[in-house]
Amino acid sequence: MFAEIIAIGSELSCGSKLDTNSQWLSRELESLGWTVTRHTTLADDMTAMVNEFHAAALRARVVLITGGLGPTLDDITRDALAKAFHQSLVRDPESLKHIQALFASRGREMPLRNERQADRPEHSQVMPNSCGTAPGILMQVNPAGTAVSGASDAESDLHSCLIAVMPGVPAEMKPMFMQHVRPHLLDSGIVLRRAVVRTFGFGESDAERLLGDLTARDRNPEVGITASEAVISLWVTARSRSTDEANRMCDETCALVRERLGEAVYGDGDDELHDVVARLLTARKMSIALVEGATTGGQISMWMSENPDLAAVVKSACVIPDRWDSEALRAHRLVCSEADSLPLDWLQVATAVSAEVRLLCKADFVLCSSPFYDEPLDSGVVVRRGSVAVSTADQIQQFDVSMSGNLAIFRQRAARTALNRLRLILQSASFL
Ligand code: AMP
Ligand code: MG
Repeated sequence: MFAEIIAIGSELSCGSKLDTNSQWLSRELESLGWTVTRHTTLADDMTAMVNEFHAAALRARVVLITGGLGPTLDDITRDALAKAFHQSLVRDPESLKHIQALFASRGREMPLRNERQADRPEHSQVMPNSCGTAPGILMQVNPAGTAVSGASDAESDLHSCLIAVMPGVPAEMKPMFMQHVRPHLLDSGIVLRRAVVRTFGFGESDAERLLGDLTARDRNPEVGITASEAVISLWVTARSRSTDEANRMCDETCALVRERLGEAVYGDGDDELHDVVARLLTARKMSIALVEGATTGGQISMWMSENPDLAAVVKSACVIPDRWDSEALRAHRLVCSEADSLPLDWLQVATAVSAEVRLLCKADFVLCSSPFYDEPLDSGVVVRRGSVAVSTADQIQQFDVSMSGNLAIFRQRAARTALNRLRLILQSASFL
């Protein structure tokens, strides 16, 4: 069951405002079993709207449109809707009364141009606006684009498309959708169940290769891959006529994904690596200390201070913004005052510092990161290089991180590399 969403407004198409309505509506539609196949954003342009309304009604069973219902001359969604489906506009007396009453309740006289807001295509229904002046419009058209009289349930006519036009203001659009549009969409006939499996450690193409046939486009459940800041998420979407079946299919595919990606899988849904690590530490009554150089630049400390549950596993945290030398480390009380000279190698220094910090703070693990440096390559690309290390009671494991481009992404990748290593240590047999 396909649905499309069209956002109207030149302020959206020129980039000055973000279209948040389509995101919200998509989530609502998906929760009702509808598959949203297209988001379109259009300027307040008559030709573009007429063409798109018509084309969308041919493609989809449900088309939700927001924006362009205001009283000003640039708001022409009503006119475009009537034109797209060859109807004349009529002025709805009930709507007009509602708008007049709203102005009266505010002690103001209704400007003449607001009368336009009571217009609707002749074969359509008005949806009252409980939060503003602009009423919405509901109409049913057949795929050839001609109106079907009355706006009944979308499923009742197999060849028709339900069109709902709502105000652009999110605070008006959401209640209107809930009260007047959602009831027509309850019976999509499909239950959609979605789960997200989160992984760290693979690139997108490696993950896809390991998943093999699971990512085939015509598969149900469908498996989609998204990469964001070094985390690869697998979106498993199952569609079925029954809830039990959709749940079973979704669970089975998630299990296959977990099996194929192995220890790279660290969580579900919105899980972040630092949440998972904090949960593992809490369960084992263990703690960490953080000594962050510029490679992570305080990123791990920032994540771990997001809420008291996370912060509870951190015994101490410090950021060394520049150098890891005796002077800088003494300033942070990370080495005792006698340590005048330290080895030049960062890992050796980190090993010495970790041992001292672990003892001082009574932490079970120390996560460290080095300063970073930028290395210009012959190709002109500049690669940023740094290291992270995880120190346990009997060893220190170091990992190099190198990346060109954005410093914030480099830091997140480095911070996740350290957290992921700690997760794997905590999940290993010796800590179970
Ligand atoms: P309109 O209904 O076109 O008069 O829109 C009124 C206001 O609602 C605009 O100025 C925007 O601030 C907001 N708006 C319109 N469309 C959207 C959208 N798709 N997402 C978020 N806000 C919107
Ligand atoms: Mg507008």
